[in-house]
Amino acid sequence: MRIADSISRLGTETAFAVAAKAAAHAAAGGKVYPFHLGDLNIPTAQIVQDAAMKAMRDGKTNYCPPAGIAPLRDAMAQDTNSKRGTKYSMENVSMQPGGKPVISKFLMALMNPGDEVLCPNPGFPIYESQIEFLGGKVLPYPIIPAGDYFTFDLDALEKLITPRTKLLIINDYHNPTGAELSAAERERMVEIANRHNLMVLLDEAYFETHYDNKATSLVSLPGMVERSVLLYTFSKKFAMTGWRLGAAIGPKAIIDTFNKLNVNIESCTCQFVQWAGLAGLTGDQSGPEKIVGTLRERRDVAVDILNSTPGVTCIKPNASFYLYPDVTDLMARKGFGDNYDAFAEDVLTKTGVSFCTRLHFGRPLPGETRRYIRLAFSGIDAADIRDGLGKLKSYAS
Ligand code: PLP
Repeated sequence: MRIADSISRLGTETAFAVAAKAAAHAAAGGKVYPFHLGDLNIPTAQIVQDAAMKAMRDGKTNYCPPAGIAPLRDAMAQDTNSKRGTKYSMENVSMQPGGKPVISKFLMALMNPGDEVLCPNPGFPIYESQIEFLGGKVLPYPIIPAGDYFTFDLDALEKLITPRTKLLIINDYHNPTGAELSAAERERMVEIANRHNLMVLLDEAYFETHYDNKATSLVSLPGMVERSVLLYTFSKKFAMTGWRLGAAIGPKAIIDTFNKLNVNIESCTCQFVQWAGLAGLTGDQSGPEKIVGTLRERRDVAVDILNSTPGVTCIKPNASFYLYPDVTDLMARKGFGDNYDAFAEDVLTKTGVSFCTRLHFGRPLPGETRRYIRLAFSGIDAADIRDGLGKLKSYAS
């Protein structure tokens, strides 16, 4: 048997390896504090659950149009317009089985072999994986701390651009750092995209997981509607990670291409899940608001403990459910230098705290001197956050 050559270029979400180590620690009788999980331990919003049951009973169990059911496409367009000031209609929306497929379909629709794609680093590892799998070249641009927030290094980004650079991936409200652009940086990012005629994937997976309700989208700025595809997901807002429901929203010609890819790949997104998503989007918003409230409380508890832990500093993100603390001093003091794996293993063994590290979010860039880990607070209750990070603090003291 010979597996296709292109598969050797396919990456993965290596966080699964961390999960295996945590499971082994638990099997040996240890308590695990699962900060590695990028998943939620919160039930799916009730109105979504109820609507799914009803849709199944009503027989919404067969194929539906590849682009998605019309009422949901229409509601997606209206929801996007109300939050981003755009003028989309349903022909600008292609429903997807999750947000993740929007990444590969965006590249399939717009990238030719050899084209260069700017993507955030550290960043969601699937960008690098899919760009290389589909024959493109990754241009990683740094995400950097800027005082009390993380942002995108726009000077570095601009220097990477060549005549072969066609696409730009932006993950505002960023995984793993929570990075978001300031107003001035947003203007500059858009100016760069316009000047270099870049098509943009706006991955807004965490747009709705925003703690001061002030999320704004780059798509609202001049020239961006024409050149952007928005990645929308139901996974985080409604705690629907396993249901697989998302959408691509963008110019009609690109969305038509997405729909053609849908026909070829999955035919359509599960119909009763779409009816459930419609209820979530258009119904009472107290369920999703409660989810954000729970996450906000967890964030505050975790950041306070981390910032009182010797050798650790942690920026408090306004959005996403991840923390990206700087642990350089702690790793140095414990004698680990830049050996992330040994550090993570030592912490897991001695405290039960399980986490991903910088290495899980793209290949490190030359000249990086600070060391970071990523803690997700979406899959662990506030009491366990206190307990687990309390143990980490004792380990560090
Ligand atoms: N984009 C980013 C930045 C993410 O972190 C994730 C999930 O963790 C996704 C996209 C895809 O999420 P989903 O496929 O569950 O919608």
